[in-house]
Amino acid sequence: MIEIQDLHKQFGNVEVLKGIDLVVKESEKVVILGPSGSGKSTLLRCINYLEYPTQGSVKINGNAFEDKNRKNQEKHIALLRTEVGMVFQKFNLFHHLTALGNVMAALVTIKGLSKVEAKQIAEFNLEKVGLLEKAKNYPSQLSGGQQQRVAIARALAMDPKVMLFDESTSALDPELVGEVLRVIRGLAEDGMTMVLVTHEMKFAKDVADRIVFMDNGVIVEDSPPEVFFNNPSTERAKQFIMQED
Ligand code: ATP
Ligand code: MG
Repeated sequence: MIEIQDLHKQFGNVEVLKGIDLVVKESEKVVILGPSGSGKSTLLRCINYLEYPTQGSVKINGNAFEDKNRKNQEKHIALLRTEVGMVFQKFNLFHHLTALGNVMAALVTIKGLSKVEAKQIAEFNLEKVGLLEKAKNYPSQLSGGQQQRVAIARALAMDPKVMLFDESTSALDPELVGEVLRVIRGLAEDGMTMVLVTHEMKFAKDVADRIVFMDNGVIVEDSPPEVFFNNPSTERAKQFIMQED
């Protein structure tokens, strides 16, 4: 499903990812934990092709994207990106479009569907996140939790093989976190392959098949949650768990 080999990412002189090897199998839920600046977001952005690796490879279902000689590279990346849905901390919705319009947009522009088809798929996915009745609302007329659920519906509408969540509840008021986690948990139960960065430790314990702990651009631990939280093998992970608790 996702195969990352010896991934390095450098910004200027600073090496942010220093050789990441990670395989995520179909239906697996991997939670990435680690201190601020350890490279979690950069890793997710490389999986979604928002960043190009300096070295190494990222394959989704056996396909690598960084084929420099490929014709129509932009189009190729756009299509590969539809296989990998990403939901960020900020909602990133188009403010001039309704909830429905937001979910429909890429179906029309990237997948080339007719408006009728796109509307049907968009409504199905808004229903899935419990927001069909808000389809005509603009982002400014939705709560933060609702906007984030629209962002999830928009990603799901592309029928991705993998979903990436980068601190998708961190910008929300505490009382709105639960509704978004419930949607993500539902996706996990449906068997979606997921990679999540989160500070919700209880959620991580419940949902993760594996915890990947990063520090300073490398993976320090990769273990099932019961092992990671009860019996971490590194001092760095122990400290991190104590801080977060
Ligand atoms: P946080 O928990 O705070 O979100 P993170 O683990 O997600 O942290 P990253 O955002 O991946 O960390 O950043 C890792 C390092 O890379 C940081 O030192 C950051 O300043 C640097 N970095 C990230 N993006 C860029 C960029 N576009 N240009 C230069 N440096 C960058
Ligand atoms: Mg980050």
